[in-house]
Amino acid sequence: MTGIIYHRLFGEHLQGYNHVESPERYEVIMKRLRNCPFSGGLDFIEAESAGVKLLELVHDGKYVSDILSMKIDSPVVLDWGDTVATPASQQAALHAAGAGVQAARLVLGGELDSAFCPVRPPGHHAERDRAMGFCIFNNVAIAASWLISEGGLGRVAIVDWDVHHGNGTEHVFFDDDRVLYISLHQYPHYPGTGHFNSVGSGKGAGYTINLPVGAGADDSLYLGKFHERIIPALDGYRPEFILISAGFDAHGDDPLSGCRLTTGAFGEMTRLLRESAQKHCGGRIVSMLEGGYDLEALADSVESHVEALVTEA
Ligand SMILES: [Zn+2]
Repeated sequence: MTGIIYHRLFGEHLQGYNHVESPERYEVIMKRLRNCPFSGGLDFIEAESAGVKLLELVHDGKYVSDILSMKIDSPVVLDWGDTVATPASQQAALHAAGAGVQAARLVLGGELDSAFCPVRPPGHHAERDRAMGFCIFNNVAIAASWLISEGGLGRVAIVDWDVHHGNGTEHVFFDDDRVLYISLHQYPHYPGTGHFNSVGSGKGAGYTINLPVGAGADDSLYLGKFHERIIPALDGYRPEFILISAGFDAHGDDPLSGCRLTTGAFGEMTRLLRESAQKHCGGRIVSMLEGGYDLEALADSVESHVEALVTEA
């Protein structure tokens, strides 16, 4: 069974505020997943809230307490302008982080085969001590850290196909060989990090793999990177768990990128990772929503992604 770890709060963050990372993103995804032909194969599970201890697996205590103690009556900017919080945002961010850990726990425990978490706010730009790029807490990094510290794993792979580089996730695990971070992203592009020669340091040297692509990159270029680089890297690493930072903003219709993926590419990339997970770790995959800003392309791409998680090849 594939879990969908949802919460109404994911549709309340930034409500009433005009932002491209909009509550409608969550609404269209949930509407699609509840009405798709394979919805019977999905287990809809309400997300738990993360406690402070989980957040501090990745984030500085002072940053966590600064965020959680803010009194938010009207929209406030958390960084230099693109990350905004409204009254529901703190609770939404706690549940977004909680969803990833909950999904990881349920998949590790065998209660689910895989899971997709349609969380808002997203996470991969959030740094140890600051909000950035629409992200407050780094949801996928928190799930990976939980798999290591509580799940007892020693090799967790994060594949990040959001069109933007996941600077926050890279930094958290840059000198750590217990997480293999692989990012496929448009470059040069926001946030400016993710050069191919950024490969990790110390014990983590070689465990960060950046695969930058130029604007205009299409399905064949992306899938080529999977076949030539990503799948072989996973074969070498033999992950015990695969996490996906699933952004859908490399779609051709997306307003925030110059990449040209079709809907079907997201299904194909998912099938390749699923095969890899079946080969190395009993099929264990948890996918966390990151970007994706054209509502129709987002709903279509999420459907293609989740269908590939659910359906036997
Ligand atoms: Zn993105």
